[in-house]
Amino acid sequence: MTDYPDIQLHIDGQWRPGASARSLPVRNPATGAVMGQLACADLEDIAQAAAAAERGFEVWRRISAFERYKTLRKAAQLLRERADKVARLMTMEQGKPLAEARLEVMAGADTIDWFAEEGRRAYGRVIPARQHDVYQLVVKEPVGPVAAFTPWNFPINQIVRKLAAALAAGCSMVVKAPEETPASPAALIAVFIDAGVPAGVVNLVYGDPAQISSFLIAHPAIRKISFTGSTEVGKQLASMAGLHMKRMTMELGGHAPVIVFDDADVALAAKTMVAAKYRNAGQVCVSPTRFLVQEGVYQDFVDQFVAQARKLQVGNGLDATTTMGPLANPRRLSAMQSLTADAQTRHAKLQLGGKAIEGAGNYFEPTVLTEVPPEARLMCEEPFGPIALINPFATFEDALREANRLPVGLAAYAWTRSARTAQQIGAAVQAGMISINHLGLGMPETPFGGVKDSGYGSEGGTEALEAYLNPKFISQAGLV
Ligand code: NAD
Repeated sequence: MTDYPDIQLHIDGQWRPGASARSLPVRNPATGAVMGQLACADLEDIAQAAAAAERGFEVWRRISAFERYKTLRKAAQLLRERADKVARLMTMEQGKPLAEARLEVMAGADTIDWFAEEGRRAYGRVIPARQHDVYQLVVKEPVGPVAAFTPWNFPINQIVRKLAAALAAGCSMVVKAPEETPASPAALIAVFIDAGVPAGVVNLVYGDPAQISSFLIAHPAIRKISFTGSTEVGKQLASMAGLHMKRMTMELGGHAPVIVFDDADVALAAKTMVAAKYRNAGQVCVSPTRFLVQEGVYQDFVDQFVAQARKLQVGNGLDATTTMGPLANPRRLSAMQSLTADAQTRHAKLQLGGKAIEGAGNYFEPTVLTEVPPEARLMCEEPFGPIALINPFATFEDALREANRLPVGLAAYAWTRSARTAQQIGAAVQAGMISINHLGLGMPETPFGGVKDSGYGSEGGTEALEAYLNPKFISQAGLV
């Protein structure tokens, strides 16, 4: 017995099982035990969800921005009130320490508040016309029903950034939430329903991701796609969306470089970056991964980084002393094993960890590898796990070349006391975001997104609201 609930779909205002009553087990990554069952949608359910979103859109778009704001603020408040319970569900299904889960839930409430406010400021503009009796207006209209596909690493955060922005803009949504971590997303959807979002405006489905995405992307009612996940899947979905001329936001993988210059505050950099690296056991798209450290401080940085990483307490996320939980699924555990083995075959030096922890649960040791050759898989594939790679560099140009070597460009980090170096690296790194001398990414009010194979579009800041709005130009002459 656990206090983990069975999870249902939410379609057209109803919590219900799928038409075929098919279900999937949900496992606890800390123990491997089955905790509950998840209802799966079949095509009939997905078609109903798309039709509901189409009807819901017609209702929601007509509700004033001010009324939408009030409903969203109420949803944020409900999420805060339920934070302890929702965080516990998240830790049970995803593995992250309870404190991290609670922070994610509270940050979700902040995100809802921010987009609620921003929806009231979806201003258009008036363009001076060439004739005196003509008004030329640009108004912002919601794009329409949205299909969103979100992953298991941040079960609340990955949805709320899409959903809060879409709702604030006046759109409806069908969310295909992660099958492996379904309870906290369902609890998120529940706060919107309980706050009074009308039936059909928010719909939640789980099932076969490929079946659901190919159906919804092609569905004529769906006008926009938003996906967070791997570059490989993102490219497939983007090509489908292109075929059907659907707008899209793609938040895909990264392989963040961290450039530590000779003049950096090494102690602060090591401490801050260890916390960032092993947060959520490294299963973070902006996780710092390729540490490029200038020769003068290289050994000092490695020593301090390893000393800090050694202090991590790996264990069940529900234990108060745990600072790093298990990996969210067995796929990540085997990926860590094969990536580490490959790097060692290529003579990378193992400084810490490197092994799965025996017993139940998907535990992998916090791992540090140094002198990793560029041809190692880890230097090219996103580890998406608790592995840090540290290599020395000589000059600014060497560091930049390595930082920009990969086809992805999501986050980057740099540490330097020189304003000139900070400015130069900020300008030259090919990434959607760079944080210099601190951790500053991922606030509701700041843009979040990548370049190159990391995707396009933004999931934060005013840019994220624009992603759910179409400009309409109205040129209107006075009637004489
Ligand atoms: P995966 O690539 O199969 O799945 C990634 C996500 O995409 C999952 O949420 C999955 O449900 C979804 N997905 C897969 N196929 C889909 C389809 N055809 N239509 C719609 N959604 C689909 O593999 P995975 O093992 O879950 O994750 C592996 C890799 O994905 C990680 O190594 C990481 O690189 C990437 N990932 C990135 C993020 C992120 O925040 N950007 C989150 C999770 C996973």
